[in-house]
Amino acid sequence: MGKPIQTAISPTRAEDYPEWYQQVIKASDLAEKSPVRGCMVIKPWGYALWENIMRTLDGMFKITGVKNAYFPLFIPLSFLEKEAAHVEGFAKECAVVTHHRLEKGPKGELIPAGELTEPLVVRPTSETIIGDSFSKWISSYRDLPVLINQWANVVRWEMRTRLFLRTSEFLWQEGHTAHADKEEAVDRTRLMLDVYARFAEEHLALPVIRGEKSASERFPGAVSTLCIEAMMQDRKALQAGTSHFLGQNFAKASGIRFQSAQETEEFAWTTSWGVSTRMIGGVIMSHGDDDGIILPPKIASSHVVLLPIIRKDDDRRPVMEYTENLARALREKTYGNRQIDVEIDTRDIGGARGWEWIKKGIPLRVEIGPRDIAGNSVFLARRDQSPKEKKSLTREQFIEQIVDILDDIQKNLFDRALEFQKQHTVKIDDKNDFSRFYTPENTEKPEIHGGFALSHWCGEGSCEEMIKEELKVTIRCIPFDAETEAGTCIWCGKPSSKRVIFAKAY
Ligand SMILES: [Zn+2]
Repeated sequence: MGKPIQTAISPTRAEDYPEWYQQVIKASDLAEKSPVRGCMVIKPWGYALWENIMRTLDGMFKITGVKNAYFPLFIPLSFLEKEAAHVEGFAKECAVVTHHRLEKGPKGELIPAGELTEPLVVRPTSETIIGDSFSKWISSYRDLPVLINQWANVVRWEMRTRLFLRTSEFLWQEGHTAHADKEEAVDRTRLMLDVYARFAEEHLALPVIRGEKSASERFPGAVSTLCIEAMMQDRKALQAGTSHFLGQNFAKASGIRFQSAQETEEFAWTTSWGVSTRMIGGVIMSHGDDDGIILPPKIASSHVVLLPIIRKDDDRRPVMEYTENLARALREKTYGNRQIDVEIDTRDIGGARGWEWIKKGIPLRVEIGPRDIAGNSVFLARRDQSPKEKKSLTREQFIEQIVDILDDIQKNLFDRALEFQKQHTVKIDDKNDFSRFYTPENTEKPEIHGGFALSHWCGEGSCEEMIKEELKVTIRCIPFDAETEAGTCIWCGKPSSKRVIFAKAY
């Protein structure tokens, strides 16, 4: 038995996965807790990730005809009340503004005053306020479709919070569309889910399963909710994006009417779809290792850090000149939809410098010392490989190959995550096996067990509820590619024609 290998993050994933997650965020400097309970401060390294996510997704939306707009942060309470299921779904997590001014009390303390005649809800989502605008913008079939997206923050009050995964305020985009006919709205719902799936797989390196939610997991007020689900390294599912077909429910609530080509008055068919900063939590949990986060190059806050090694004063000038020349040459190249981002870290802090960048998850680290200059070379390390694995390349080779190397890292992360997902996705047909799958064998590490179970379900909400109650396991989705197959419900034994995906979830 050798000495345990030292890792940069303590505890390791195997020791305590939830605590590992918190420590990875701290060590990577992505975000921190704020003085406001449940709200986070997203630091520059984390915000750069979000900016890259926004830029890429925004381009993908626009190609499908979507335009950006912006709507108010506050929603009149009466708007939210218009759709019964919607208000019921969100009522428990609404922040409500009731006053509009502060006055000095008898001891000089500030007290809210100027009570509003109608309270305002801080948007938990914007179907109702955007629906109000749509009702004014749309009067004829010629005005349709309307395809709108907004990048915004929303508030859903949370008692138990976790950075990026569950916070009271979070950043997201919400798309809202209105259509003259049902088919077109149904197609749009699916189209946007496919955009999300492609983005998750190609840019976040997250393999996802596409499917439809069961009735109990639907968005409040929707006719159907489509989703993408990814597996984290603790084998739990993370819902990474949703797209809702709203039927005419919200059109009726907000009065989105139009005159059809046949001159009849009709209600529009609407959709809504969103992804949030939660995706960053998904990236951390699916790619990170015991040395910290590993950023997929396509969305990485930066691609490469140059680490000049200056041991004596005489080295400084030639090393810095070589470093800056290399940075210039790299910045002229493009990777994906942006130029290569290069950091230069000249801090004299010894070995801690390299480890900081490992913990920040930057895809490539390049050391440059006097010997490299003499040999016209660079010393390269990849974040997806062991910290000890370093390779010497000529300067020209590196410049020429950097795009391919980044692509190779991107692909490697996806392949690893896909392999992990496959390894922990199993068909289960026996109720006892099913329970055992979700019951930890080692009670000291209750987090590490289970995975995705592909099992039959009769379609009854009562079975779903009992499974949730007893095992804390939910139906993540009914996969689009599920084959029709005769079987019996994993819980009640009634006939079923399809397998669904069960898992514990974030
Ligand atoms: Zn059943």
